[in-house]
Order: sequence, then C-alpha cells, then structure tokens
Amino acid sequence: MKLLKGTDYIRANREMLLKRAQALPRAPRLAVVRVGERPDDLSYERGAAKRLSGFGAELVSVSFPEDVQLETFLDAFGKLNADPLVDGILLLRPLPRHLDESAVIALLDPDKDVDGITPQNMAKLFMGASEGFAPCTAEAALRLLKTAIPDLTGKRAVVIGRSLVVGKPLAMLLLAEHCTVTICHSRTENLAAVCRDADILAAAAGKAGLVDGSFASDEACILDIGIHVREDGSMCGDVAADSFAERDVLLTPVPGGVGSVTTMILTEHLIRACERKMLQRSHG
Ligand code: NAD
Repeated sequence: MKLLKGTDYIRANREMLLKRAQALPRAPRLAVVRVGERPDDLSYERGAAKRLSGFGAELVSVSFPEDVQLETFLDAFGKLNADPLVDGILLLRPLPRHLDESAVIALLDPDKDVDGITPQNMAKLFMGASEGFAPCTAEAALRLLKTAIPDLTGKRAVVIGRSLVVGKPLAMLLLAEHCTVTICHSRTENLAAVCRDADILAAAAGKAGLVDGSFASDEACILDIGIHVREDGSMCGDVAADSFAERDVLLTPVPGGVGSVTTMILTEHLIRACERKMLQRSHG
C-alpha cells in the first residue's frame, strides 16, 4: 500500500496560492457562522483559521447560542451577506431543528458561498460549469486524486455516499473529468462487488472501517473521506487501512489525507471570491 498524502498536494500548490493572496489589495476575510459549541465545528474552525492565516487571510467567527431565534439569526446573516469586507461565508451545519436551514441557505449570496451549498452553485456543478464553487471536501478529494492520476479520462470511479456535501458533488466532479461514475449508497446491493470494479474508489459513507480488503482490486486508488474519532481520541476513516497493508493500492490516510486538503481548497475559494470582487469593482 502506498499513501497519497495531503501534504503532497499542499506542497505542490502552496506557492502559487500565496502569490495570488499577496497580489490582493487587502486580506481576504471569511466569516464562519456557528450555532452552539460542537467540538467538531470548533476543531474545523481552528484548522481553517490556521490555514487561512498562512496565506494572510482572516477568519471572523460569528457564533450564536443553540437557542438563537430564527429572526435574530437571519438578521445577522443578512448583515454578513451585505458587508463588503466579508468575501466568504461558511455556515457550519447541521443547524438546530428550529432554524430553517433551507431559508438560511437561500439567503446566502452565491458569490460568498465558498463551500458551494447554495442552489446556484450546486446547479453550476451539476451542469458541469466550472465557474461556481464546489463543496470544498469533494473538490479536495478530486484535487488530491489528480496529484497521483492527472488524467482521469475513462477511469471507472465508484463513490460510496450520495449526500449533497460529499458523495453527489464528488460524483459530478469525477464525471466532469470523464470518469465512468457509479454512485453507491446504503441500499446498494453487493456493495463490495460493485466497488471491486473501480479504478478509483471514494468512501464517504460515514461508517468507520466499512471498506475492507474485499472492496478493492489491486492498483485501485482509494480516497478515504470519512472522519471518525475513536474513544481513545485517535482518528480513522471509512477505510480499514490495515486490511490493505499488503496490497498494491494507493490510499489517502486519515488523518493527513483529504481532510487536510479541504481547508486549502477553502482558502483558494476565499481568495477567488476576493479576486472576483476586486475585478467587479475595477470594472464597475
Ligand atoms: P451523510 O451521513 O450525509 O451521508 C452518508 C452517505 O453514505 C449516505 O448517502 C448513505 O446512503 C451512504 N451510506 C451510509 N452507510 C452506508 C453503507 N453501509 N453502505 C453504503 N452506503 C452507505 O454523510 P456526509 O456528510 O456525506 O459525510 C460522509 C463522511 O465524510 C463522514 O464520515 C464525514 O465525517 C466525512 N466528511 C469529511 C469531510 C472532510 O473534510 N474530509 C467533510 C465532510 C464530511
């Protein structure tokens, strides 16, 4: 087994992104909107702040108590949307039940939607148009894959998971790269057999250790997108990495794989949002 590490992607792309950030007239600013204090949200926020600061970008944390009223929340959200100094908005989800998530998403300016959750950005992704923002995790998985296999034309790709956060967008990105794509989900029959056909297997089921040695043929490239924290605090993914130890596959590790590239893509999207705004201003 060989590891396809996030650092491979980050090392190859850092300089270019830094140059783009330095060419901007001011620091790009990301507003992270959080309700409550979920540990995984806080940890993602810390990781994003660290990555952004490495590019001179700023993260502003906008947090609300669990019981925030919808009106208060929408009002604050609307202000961020209208703030010319905020280039990107990242909404940490899921929101508590009493907040209507689709009403909030409908309000979000697609130009600030750096994690690609608005219907406008989703539509662009599903239409195969490249100018929108794709969800960062799905794009991170694709970019990391392309460091190992730059030309994906004709490859058989199997994606486990059909959520709008990871599975479906990743399937669309692979399709745009001319892969032949199969999407699997919780009701797929003979999952391991379907997966064994893949040149590229992406695991985003949210089930620790689901993918074992019986799921992949030799020479497959396996993207492990799942993130799980074990009782002892260590992390693992959807792939039982041990069962591939003696196999000839390429695997993204957890931690240090797709997750570590995600904040890099978030940074790139934020820089792109800021660049676009500057361009619109100079033309307008
Ligand atoms: P989700 O629960 O919304 O979706 C899971 C999908 O997997 C569903 O479509 C379901 O049908 C499918 N599935 C579940 N069990 C299955 C099974 N036994 N066999 C086949 N399919 C099955 O989860 P999500 O938000 O898409 O996230 C998936 C995983 O990715 C989670 O572990 C999450 O923590 C991780 N994640 C990682 C990042 C990152 O930055 N690396 C970002 C977001 C999510």
